[in-house]
Amino acid sequence: VPDRISETVAELEERGIDVVRVVYPDLIGTDRGRDVLVGHLPSVCAHGLAFCRAVYHTTPRGETLAIAGGLDVGLPDVTVHPELGTLRPLPWEPGVAWCLGETTDPATGQLAPEGPRSLLRNVLNRMRKETGLTPVVGPELEYFLCEPDGQGGWRRYGEASGNVYVAGRRGDPEAHLLRTLRHLRDLGIGATTGNHEYSSGQFEINLDHSEALDAADRGFLFKSAIKELARIDGKLATFMAKPFSDEGGSGFHLHLSCVDADGDNAFDDPQGPYGLSKAAGHAIAGILRHAPAMAALLNPTINSYKRFGPDTLAPWLIDWGLDNRSAMVRIPPERGPGARLEIRLGDASANPYLAIAAVSAAVHLGIRDELEPPAPLEGYGYDTSKAPLLPASLPEALDALAADAELNALLGKEFTDAFLNYKRDEVARFHQHVTDWEFAEYAYHL
Ligand code: GLU
Ligand code: MG
Ligand code: MG
Repeated sequence: VPDRISETVAELEERGIDVVRVVYPDLIGTDRGRDVLVGHLPSVCAHGLAFCRAVYHTTPRGETLAIAGGLDVGLPDVTVHPELGTLRPLPWEPGVAWCLGETTDPATGQLAPEGPRSLLRNVLNRMRKETGLTPVVGPELEYFLCEPDGQGGWRRYGEASGNVYVAGRRGDPEAHLLRTLRHLRDLGIGATTGNHEYSSGQFEINLDHSEALDAADRGFLFKSAIKELARIDGKLATFMAKPFSDEGGSGFHLHLSCVDADGDNAFDDPQGPYGLSKAAGHAIAGILRHAPAMAALLNPTINSYKRFGPDTLAPWLIDWGLDNRSAMVRIPPERGPGARLEIRLGDASANPYLAIAAVSAAVHLGIRDELEPPAPLEGYGYDTSKAPLLPASLPEALDALAADAELNALLGKEFTDAFLNYKRDEVARFHQHVTDWEFAEYAYHL
């Protein structure tokens, strides 16, 4: 609508904004995009921005994988259309506003089927249509901060004194967390609290809950904000699942409930077992049943599987428990409007759109198929006689995803094919690579 756009341009100019950063999530959740001079925004809104489609399939190291949209078909375009409703000034980058884009295929004009955001939207639409429910999600992301070690590498920031819940300068000598929280407040993405985590240099920031698509948008922008703010302070923020052998990993816990058409929490039932509704039980059962396949999306890297293990506070077994942090699904003690699941499976490296899509799909399947959960875990959650193990590696999880026909039907074959191709290539490249560990283990003695 041209009037709306000229109004928007006028408003932006009034606020001193001369550049709009139009970004979209690629397959692995990296924010990619272009800086658009405000004068050019009306044209971008009318025609979209063209990108090489293979960016969906560009590895973090910049290699373009020859899969769908690759060199074999001549690296065709994908078009990104800014969603003006998502425009917001970046508090740490004066003069720049951020805007999320939707990816479409210029050949068909339709949403690009492998785009993570449209994938999530499809799952949510299907759920709303078939069960009348909408997931509400509160994301909790952990990450490590590193600083230069003076030898060209990185060491953990505040390493000497940081420990869980240590507030203030002892764990955060430069008050980086405080600056970050204030910037996040000004960004308006519902950041609520920040704290030092268990491992040195590890922090967690929690985001408020909201409907699933909005929660994914905020999780996506949050990760990019954290990386940008660290960079501005000469640091490296990483959402890698387990960056250090001698420290725990970084989780991406998802607090999830569902609301019905009246906006009431469908997981609460004072008369139901443990004060939970039938739908909550089905949702838990859906997550347990589809967990091996979900792991491919919630734990999407080779490194992810080094976070799992006994006594880690990360899960290891496929189980659920009442206020039990050793379980894969924990039911926090609140009931009423706060009745919810805390799904502790995901690690911070997951693409927020795909993680929330996978969890929503599993919840949907559990409710649709009226699956019943086993009895909740009692006590220690890392006892292999009590529950089955999660996949032990990325290849195992990819095989589980490929084999989960029900989940695939919800996520769409175009997406799962593209995702599996990308990730199987990653596994193949890793298997070709000789690691430092192998040299240290074998070189001297063999
Ligand atoms: N860092 C743990 C994980 O990887 C979670 C610790 C916590 O409960 O906050 O999931
Ligand atoms: Mg935590
Ligand atoms: Mg948590």
